[in-house]
Amino acid sequence: MTLLEANQIGWGASGRTGGQVIPGLKYDPDELETVLGADLGPRVIAATGSVGDEVFGLIARHGIDCDPVHRGWLQPAFSARTLALALQRCEQWARRGAPVRAIDRAEMADLIGSDHYLGGWEDRRAGNLQPLSYVRGLATAAKRAGADIYVRSPAISVRRNNNRWTLTTPNGVVTADVVLIGTNGYTDGLWPGLARTVVPMMSFQAATPPLPAELGANILREGHSVSDTRRLLWYYRRDAQGRLVMGGRAPFREDPGPADVVHLRSAVDRLYPQLASVPFEYYWAGRVAMTKDSLPHLNELAPGLWAGLGFNGRGVGMATLFGRLLAELALGARPADIPFPVTAMRPIPGYPFTRIVARALVRYYRVRDSFEAA
Ligand SMILES: Cc1cc2nc3c(=O)[nH]c(=O)nc-3n(C[C@H](O)[C@H](O)[C@H](O)COP(=O)(O)OP(=O)(O)OC[C@H]3O[C@@H](n4cnc5c(N)ncnc54)[C@H](O)[C@@H]3O)c2cc1C
Repeated sequence: MTLLEANQIGWGASGRTGGQVIPGLKYDPDELETVLGADLGPRVIAATGSVGDEVFGLIARHGIDCDPVHRGWLQPAFSARTLALALQRCEQWARRGAPVRAIDRAEMADLIGSDHYLGGWEDRRAGNLQPLSYVRGLATAAKRAGADIYVRSPAISVRRNNNRWTLTTPNGVVTADVVLIGTNGYTDGLWPGLARTVVPMMSFQAATPPLPAELGANILREGHSVSDTRRLLWYYRRDAQGRLVMGGRAPFREDPGPADVVHLRSAVDRLYPQLASVPFEYYWAGRVAMTKDSLPHLNELAPGLWAGLGFNGRGVGMATLFGRLLAELALGARPADIPFPVTAMRPIPGYPFTRIVARALVRYYRVRDSFEAA
């Protein structure tokens, strides 16, 4: 196997994420079953619900040193409307036997260390990790298994010659029976139209220094990661050094400056007033890839050429799952045996307009969230 990476291992979103491993998709299980039908629906729900086992299983199997924490995820509600939706989501997973439970306002305040929320639910299948160490660990495991990895090697073209694929890079050529494309929010013009199937949006992160016990002891004391129910969600966790790592969405800007994390500062101030005098030590951003149907896409682009992308901000678990599904397709599995729809690529009609609307929506959602906050 040969891996071509345009930059460095983990340079894309995977090295920059909030590191939250969250089971499930944007659709709740009942809705997914209605959309995908009685055969495929339950298989997709089972596969996407078990991404925690997938990720933490790989970490254990390959001994990846990435601070894994498998102690669950909280989705706290910031408004009465979204509390009802969160509890409904919890009930649907509980009916399918998942280790989830509703959490009332007092217990949520205790687990998060903030009384900002009205309650919500907990999913014990979830967890978090140090994302760049995870990606590097996966690359090391792949190398150990015999993969050749080339960094600073963008694939510039992919063409079919004599029933094989030929990929060119600035420094050489690779031929292959099967090609898998996993470029998500950084998809370029390698395969015509593919970049128009996803809308790249920016997600931002900022981290405090390690918190002293007198400030941090009550913050996420059981090791949960959190993504709340805002349209532009606040997502956060503690890292292995005791930092608070805070994340959120903001208008598109490739290289963020301090002004771009003001919204993260106000989130921290609102949740944890005791951290008012603790500045952010680091901030960064990267691209997530949104899709029109809010589902990731497993596309068959041509015989022996597949792409997996559009993780809608849930790629730590979902891209790991898709990695396995793409490998099974490469090894000859029939699309019908894959627990996810394998579809043709569908570029979004009126794409430039969609991108403009998506970016405007970020501002609009911020206003809606601030009016709706309890
Ligand atoms: C700030 C931030 C926080 C996030 N937090 C979370 C979270 O907590 N939980 C979660 O589940 N998800 C989160 N996400 C989303 C998640 O990170 C992504 O869904 C996931 O990393 C996508 O992985 P990927 O391997 O498909 O793409 P990426 O990790 O983005 O990698 C794509 C790679 O493709 C390379 N590339 C592009 N074109 C070419 C080419 N022609 N040839 C060779 N290489 C090419 C790029 O250099 C890049 O390295 C977050 C994203 C961001 C940006």
